[in-house]
Amino acid sequence: MNNRRKIAAGNWKMHKTLLEGQGLAHEIRTMAETELMNNAEIIIFPPFIHLVTLKKQLEGSPIQIGAQNMNQHEQGAYTGEISAAMLSSIGMNYVLIGHSERRQYYNETNDSCASKINVALAKGLQVVYCIGETLEERNDTKHFTVIENQLEALKGLSSSEMKSVVLAYEPVWAIGTGVTASAEQANEMHQHIRNVVSTLFNNEVAEGVSILYGGSVKPDNAKGLFGMSDIDGALIGGAALSSRDFIDIAKSF
Ligand code: PEP
Repeated sequence: MNNRRKIAAGNWKMHKTLLEGQGLAHEIRTMAETELMNNAEIIIFPPFIHLVTLKKQLEGSPIQIGAQNMNQHEQGAYTGEISAAMLSSIGMNYVLIGHSERRQYYNETNDSCASKINVALAKGLQVVYCIGETLEERNDTKHFTVIENQLEALKGLSSSEMKSVVLAYEPVWAIGTGVTASAEQANEMHQHIRNVVSTLFNNEVAEGVSILYGGSVKPDNAKGLFGMSDIDGALIGGAALSSRDFIDIAKSF
């Protein structure tokens, strides 16, 4: 057993009105407080406009909260955007950076992710940095190289800054598709990620960083994934919209 933090993180994406979100957060809080006996950390990533309300609602609870995205600039004329300082000012614990949907639909690159990571850490946010290959890249056996390039976004961070970074390996072909990477396939990539982090930093950083798996995680496959040597938790999409499924996943450590 290692000392890495065990994390169940729920990405709500563009789901839930405010009232629905409050209901879901209430259920998650109640179940976490009454049922969760392990030391798993629970993080939710609701839509931006719910963050202030849900932060207040979850005060005093074990649930942490973060944003699904942020802008890489500190401030300025970027209509419609949200800065790291704004997220810090409303007490956010975390921000998700580089989710594959942001890379796919909003042209996010490893370079823009690197800028975001730096600004987020400077403003005191913890980062969940998402990486993962497409099916085509895997079929072309480019998946290890793709991940190495994505991890370049961490270059230049200090070992102490890396304590505020969590990695999420999310093969794009497994997100929202119902197809999960096998526990062995996922663990193989997690080990590769740890080796790359060791090369970029050192062995201590590599052994300390929590690496989550994401891609159709459900209560019935969570235990198998969490039982693997290098899988420290999950970033959960669809199943995080059900309090029952989300907490059952968190109970699977
Ligand atoms: C995600 O969007 O990060 C995700 C893993 O989604 P799902 O669990 O629905 O595959």
